[in-house]
Amino acid sequence: MPIENVKILAIDDNRDNLTIIKALINEAFPKAQTIFANDGFRGLELAFEKEPDIILLDIIMPGMDGYEVCKKLKVHPITADIPVVFITAIKDDKQSRIKALEAGGEGFLSKPVDISELTAQIRAMLKIREATILKRGEKERLENLIDERTRELQKTHAETLNLLKYFQAENEKRKKSEAALKESEEKTRLFKRAVDSSSVGIIITDIEGKIIYTNPFYLKISGYRESELIGQLSTFLDANFQPETFNRKRWKNILSGKDWSGEIKNIKKNGESYWVKAVISPIVNTAGEITNFIVVSEDITQKKQLLEDLITAKEKAEESDKLKTAFLANMSHEIRTPMNGILGFAELLKEQDLTNEIQQKYIHIIEKSGARMLNIINNIVDISKIEAGLMEITLTDSDINEQIDYIYNFFKPEVEAKGMQLYFKKHYANHKAIIKTDQEKLYAIFTNLVKNAIKYSYRGYIEFGYYPEQNKQGRDLMIFYVKDTGIGIHKDKTSIIFDRFRQVSEGKNRHYEGAGLGLSITKSYVEMLGGKIWVESEEGVGSRFCFSLPYNHTNLHPKADKK
Ligand code: ADP
Repeated sequence: MPIENVKILAIDDNRDNLTIIKALINEAFPKAQTIFANDGFRGLELAFEKEPDIILLDIIMPGMDGYEVCKKLKVHPITADIPVVFITAIKDDKQSRIKALEAGGEGFLSKPVDISELTAQIRAMLKIREATILKRGEKERLENLIDERTRELQKTHAETLNLLKYFQAENEKRKKSEAALKESEEKTRLFKRAVDSSSVGIIITDIEGKIIYTNPFYLKISGYRESELIGQLSTFLDANFQPETFNRKRWKNILSGKDWSGEIKNIKKNGESYWVKAVISPIVNTAGEITNFIVVSEDITQKKQLLEDLITAKEKAEESDKLKTAFLANMSHEIRTPMNGILGFAELLKEQDLTNEIQQKYIHIIEKSGARMLNIINNIVDISKIEAGLMEITLTDSDINEQIDYIYNFFKPEVEAKGMQLYFKKHYANHKAIIKTDQEKLYAIFTNLVKNAIKYSYRGYIEFGYYPEQNKQGRDLMIFYVKDTGIGIHKDKTSIIFDRFRQVSEGKNRHYEGAGLGLSITKSYVEMLGGKIWVESEEGVGSRFCFSLPYNHTNLHPKADKK
């Protein structure tokens, strides 16, 4: 600031003093601007308003003295830096000077004011003022700098805060999505456990039908290991049991987005087939595209088997119903025929003039009819006993050769009367073929088979006998057989003839008398004695009925005897 342009405020209640000061200033600094105030209040007003470079201040003033004015000036930021020069009345007034310094004053002038002193003071004050302004400028610059820095910091802080908030929000989001992920993982784990422990077979395939998952139950049903199924086409399990049209229809249905359910025949790893009731559902993504297929299958093999068994049982029941009817018709025929014989010929016997020969003939017919009837009654009684579990077994040492001889002698005449031959074969010498069995039953079995052989043969021969044999388990058996060269049995009938009331020729077309009970009784007897019965036969060639009995071979003398 050029010193000439200095702006000075003089505050003094004494106008004369002010006039002198003005004159002095004008003389020392002609270009200086001077402002005057007559009291402290006005002085303060002007100081704020004009912001002078120096204030000359009188101490003793009415209203507000110079100290008071100085204190007020020094506390206000606008005026605080303006140097104040007190004008004291008494030179070297120590007390006043101390007070003035305490009030914040920077300089002193004593009255009467000396021009050189005033000039020196003003110059000194101006220097202070300049330094202060400089200081203030620096301070302002610094303050601005600080403000700027503070603003920058605040901006950075705000940005940091925003960033922090963003990260917090992101963190929250991440936490939430982590929680959601965890929840979905937990759900997936639960679903997997449910599917894994399910008692129905579950398969998941990709869009091409390749297996990507199979639960343990399906592995159990199919017998495959997981690694053998993953990657395979699901149709691999079908094993081409289903017709092509069935498959095409099924996949058309599924690919249209609909569920398909039905029964499929599949094949196990071990080659066995099994039935499943399957539901195949397509899995669709949010875009509505099919991404996978899920196949849920229940093993219904047993159920199906049960159904088949039921159908078979029903058919059997129907068949046995038919048989019962046939049996009743048979029975009535089988009983009426001999009955007619007995009653008819008994009536004829009553006539007076019969020759002896005719009488004997009639008596023979009556005997034969009686025997036939007795046979039927015996058969019915036997079957009833077997059925009721009343048939008892008495095991004794039985001489087979003796039985062979007895049967041979008994049937020989009948066979020969039919123009055929009867043979037997004994594997062991007489009295050496002893087995522990029920003699009566063995006799009945043999008799039944030989009787049938005679009944169903018209030419050739009948041979019966026995021989020892070991079965696969190493058990010793005695095999008995009755062989004929008769009408034979069609291969379809060889298994049914051992069933009750079953005959090769049944119904009204029957050619042979009989109730169809003989072989059924025979079979029961063989089984009671721990053996098995079977037949090898060829129609028109002949039959060979065989049965086995357990054989405990003490007294073994393999010397064959043939007649
Ligand atoms: P039945 O002789 O009273 O009819 P069976 O139970 O003894 O009853 O025999 C059942 C059926 O087996 C006979 O009806 C006959 O068709 C057939 N059969 C039995 N033995 C012979 C045989 N040796 N040769 C041909 N067929 C036979």
